[in-house]
Amino acid sequence: MTRKVADCRAIPSDTNCTLTISGTEEEVVAAASQHAAAVHGHTDGPELREQVRSMLTDEVTA
Ligand SMILES: [Zn+2]
Repeated sequence: MTRKVADCRAIPSDTNCTLTISGTEEEVVAAASQHAAAVHGHTDGPELREQVRSMLTDEVTA
């Protein structure tokens, strides 16, 4: 199956965060939402998770 990637560089933020998270869609949405809340001061919840889900890309494997 194709893993999904959340690239923190794609999210506008005041920290130059370079974290990428990859895994299944549900794993990435959960992990990235927790990361965004913990590091970027977002409020974890359905709204944030939808935002995270909308920015997922397919992992490109070489
Ligand atoms: Zn980040």
